Amino acid sequence: MTNGHDIPHAAAPDGTLRLSGVGVAGLPGRHDIVVKDGVVADVVPAGSAVVEAGGGFVTPLLADAHVHLDKTHTIGRIRAGVPAPIESLFDAIALMEEDRPNWTAADIRLRASRALEAAFAHGVGVVRSHVDWVSLDMPAAWPVLCELREEWKGRVDLEIAALLRGDLLPDAGAEIAAQVRRDEAVFGAFFYRNADLETRVGTMFALAAHHDLKLDFHVDEGLEPEADGLSLIIDATARFGMAGRVLCGHACSLSLRSQDEVKRIVDAGASAGVGLVVLPTTNLHLQDRGTGRTPRLRGLAPLKEARAAGMDVMIASDNVGDAFYPYGDYDPLSVLRLAVPVAHLEPDAWLDSITSLPARWCGSDLSMPIAKGMPADFIWHAATDMGDLISRPRSERIVYRRGAPLPAQNHDWRNA
Ligand SMILES: [Zn+2]
Repeated sequence: MTNGHDIPHAAAPDGTLRLSGVGVAGLPGRHDIVVKDGVVADVVPAGSAVVEAGGGFVTPLLADAHVHLDKTHTIGRIRAGVPAPIESLFDAIALMEEDRPNWTAADIRLRASRALEAAFAHGVGVVRSHVDWVSLDMPAAWPVLCELREEWKGRVDLEIAALLRGDLLPDAGAEIAAQVRRDEAVFGAFFYRNADLETRVGTMFALAAHHDLKLDFHVDEGLEPEADGLSLIIDATARFGMAGRVLCGHACSLSLRSQDEVKRIVDAGASAGVGLVVLPTTNLHLQDRGTGRTPRLRGLAPLKEARAAGMDVMIASDNVGDAFYPYGDYDPLSVLRLAVPVAHLEPDAWLDSITSLPARWCGSDLSMPIAKGMPADFIWHAATDMGDLISRPRSERIVYRRGAPLPAQNHDWRNA
């Protein structure tokens, strides 16, 4: 017994597993999930004897469309260096630059592996990680993450995205895009009020079209109303016919625009087929930050308006344990838990923002809604429903992969 719930994972002698009387995300009422040979053999309404919400709650695996495995878990080192205070995104960027000489292949492998182990234990099946690309040379993290992508296949579908410093364009773009193509990765850049931004955006799209690459941008991560790279990217997506292949992260400055302007931009984003990733932890930590004062502006893109307009809107972890965000544990559910009060979200309506939507954008069929015939990859939670799950951060979860429960969450938290 855990929190009054029977943990429903006793398999019958023939190997059939029946999770009885569970709530299933996206389905009304209570159900029995029948698992056989690693597959969801059936999902049937629970018998009349099981009318109370005692069976627990089942969600898809989680998916995290935006993390930084190259930067992660550097905060201990950074703090040990007695850093200057971080008062903005650009202070954080400067501190990360100071740490970058430590990023050997071995160092990156250790830190990124620790991150993937945590994500896997939380029930994450899909991750897209950006990799800083700050000069013409291939970053040390790139081949390491390519190796980890192979090593983790079948456990975590890892997609890798090159994150070019915007000023590398247009000169170095072609060579990097060709490498990204060879490594079957995603092409992307960081843009914030760059000089000649329209040309740089156009270069990114031309290279992506030439090499048939998906795009992923860090755009408008700041609170100056003049920052509107998002509109340039939306226009280019429409012009190049790249619906469903262009993801934009942040768009903080969109939060400062009038409702009319927001509507115009998100309508255009929806019709162009651009996806939006909102990163609450890093934005809340860095936007409108200053020593000795409380933030007033929170920098979250208007995600409800974007979704209402028809854009795919996702929520992701972004930075974990680095100068941009010194906390976090690769648990998208904890990020949704934060976003619910911050952005006034209905938990039921937004579960797809950390499951099926990011999985689809990352080209994975893990993290799909529970249905008969699918591989038995899902998470059982000791909770009655989404609201209860959001309310109680310590509710137990059991991650099922191919019908078998993972051992209890045992990633080594002492390895800091
Ligand atoms: Zn990011």
